[in-house]
Amino acid sequence: AESWNEVPLAPPDSIFKLTASYKADTFPQKVNLGVGAYRDDDNKPWVLPVVKKATHLLLNDPTLDHEYLPITGLPEFTAGAAKLILGSDSPAIKEGRTVSVQTISGTGANHLGALFLSRFYHFNGPKQIYLSDPTWANHHAIFRNVGIEPHNYAYYDPSTIGLHFSGFLSSLRNAPSRSIFLLHACAHNPTGVDPTPEQWDAIASVILERGHYAFFDCAYQGFASGDLDRDAAAVRSFVEKGVPLLVCQSFAKNAGLYGERVGALHVVAPTKEAADRVRSQLSVLQRSEISNPPSHGARLVSLILNNPELFEDWKQDIRTMAHRIIDMRQKLYDILTKELHTPGSWDHILKQIGMFSFTGINPDQSKALVEKAHVYLTANGRISMAGLNSHNLRYFAESLDKVVR
Ligand code: PMP
Repeated sequence: AESWNEVPLAPPDSIFKLTASYKADTFPQKVNLGVGAYRDDDNKPWVLPVVKKATHLLLNDPTLDHEYLPITGLPEFTAGAAKLILGSDSPAIKEGRTVSVQTISGTGANHLGALFLSRFYHFNGPKQIYLSDPTWANHHAIFRNVGIEPHNYAYYDPSTIGLHFSGFLSSLRNAPSRSIFLLHACAHNPTGVDPTPEQWDAIASVILERGHYAFFDCAYQGFASGDLDRDAAAVRSFVEKGVPLLVCQSFAKNAGLYGERVGALHVVAPTKEAADRVRSQLSVLQRSEISNPPSHGARLVSLILNNPELFEDWKQDIRTMAHRIIDMRQKLYDILTKELHTPGSWDHILKQIGMFSFTGINPDQSKALVEKAHVYLTANGRISMAGLNSHNLRYFAESLDKVVR
């Protein structure tokens, strides 16, 4: 019998391991700032009111069945999703040169996009992609899985706890022409550091000059600013400028549909003919990977995107989540700077965007927070702002103050 002796034991996923340690901890004031999922002010998962409404509509629809969806997904969902990210009046959509495929949430969109590029992108040399340093750890694995080697581009500057803009531009300039760059559309994970609109313009210019390809990952539309259109601005301006690109889209966070796995991959092609060819190959790949995407979550999001009343409700729910997070940033900043007079500058807490914040603390200080204060966070000093609330904020601020003194 096969002994599998050659199979090395892999370490557990660090984020899920952190959650398990948090759950096992019996300390009453424990705080979980590890996982990237929204929590309400009572630290509870939040089912969006609009999702409850949409679920009710679905359950009462007598025409629904459990047949397979088309290979590329629910057409009303993918069409609505494309408009959401590219803009309802997007010329690329009107010209019929966009391809939209329903995927297994954002992870599946990244995978399908990576697989498609590994098969069909005209690489200039070895198959490789440039990822921001740092990035969502899964990006590395997703590209390696399809034979594309990840390289880093400069992104985060620990000395300013902000963007290493000149380094970023140099990376773009120095990469071989026609390189692929993965860009976080908004609310960069893990740093919370995004380029400004002016910086995006400069990035787009160099990408065009060098003939690079933009692989956008958009997992937090609406979460960054509370405004869906504002958070899509970088993607839309790149499309307008004619940067060749694709976008991976997730509804996990902005619709609170984490486990339903609702997402899409959008490829913006130069012509309708090119789009038709791309669509045909994406269908072939999708068929062998998952045959057809799951229907429930896509039906919910389709109702929300295509029903004007539900769409307004959703925007309100998104504002609720985004503004609670922004409020936590302000309150954390105020306690640290005005009450505790914690050493160092904490302006980055206010400047950073989205669910995550890079605190700038070192791995020893992160470890001390976990071990001494029962505050769970990743070793890189990243905290999920959604894990903070009016009940644990002061305890967290005081614990942070202690480890940096
Ligand atoms: N990209 C980034 C940058 C993310 O942070 C996430 C979620 N952690 C994803 C993609 C994909 O998440 P999901 O598959 O749950 O949509």
